[in-house]
Amino acid sequence: MIKQFKNNWLLFNLNRPCILCGIRPSTEAHLCQDCLDDLPWIGSACQRCAEPMHTDAALICPQCQKRSPSFNQVITSFEYRFPINQLVQLAKFNGQTHYLNPLAELLGRRVQTAPKPDLIVPVPLHPKRLHERQYNQAALVAKHLARQLGVPYSNRLLVKTKNTRHQADLNRKMRRKNLKSSFQCRGTPPASIAVVDDVMTTGTTAAEISRILKQSGCQQVYIWVIARTAKELHLR
Ligand SMILES: [Zn+2]
Ligand SMILES: [Zn+2]
Repeated sequence: MIKQFKNNWLLFNLNRPCILCGIRPSTEAHLCQDCLDDLPWIGSACQRCAEPMHTDAALICPQCQKRSPSFNQVITSFEYRFPINQLVQLAKFNGQTHYLNPLAELLGRRVQTAPKPDLIVPVPLHPKRLHERQYNQAALVAKHLARQLGVPYSNRLLVKTKNTRHQADLNRKMRRKNLKSSFQCRGTPPASIAVVDDVMTTGTTAAEISRILKQSGCQQVYIWVIARTAKELHLR
């Protein structure tokens, strides 16, 4: 089943025009080589939270040094900049979810060398918001990764029980308060879990989910996201 999906997906991909330029044929993940090369691939970043650091030294960012995050490691493909931000926004708010497949595929290749988790789960949406949007973009990415890597997937273990305000309107302190007790782990988590989301901004959501999962007995929590914002975008 998994193998069949993989083969179909690869076949579907071959020789289709690039989704960004629409001109050159795609080489991988619906993108041509020139567009792939131009994407804002994450460069040097904090080894813990993947905050872009723009320095060559292997570092832990000041934030993680000050307060060790509850998750073990964040893995991401991109900085949240053009054109990744536009693709994510189109997928998230315009229903153009087909843009998520190539982004998930590229993230899947990146996490292939990372420790393999026992389970992949998406950052959940509150049922009310899920009803409004009809789909959870994080779940679409998580499912793709689970199939690509052959890891079990669950959207039931972690649930959002409080319909919180949009995090984008809040600063870091308000974000923490806003999210407090808004997630629940239902059941016994395995020893290691990868939590998948589209974008990580301050990391407040990732930290809160990791805290809940670890409280319930999970030992290793990895955060896998398509893109990570650089600091200047989330200092308010
Ligand atoms: Zn292209
Ligand atoms: Zn950090």
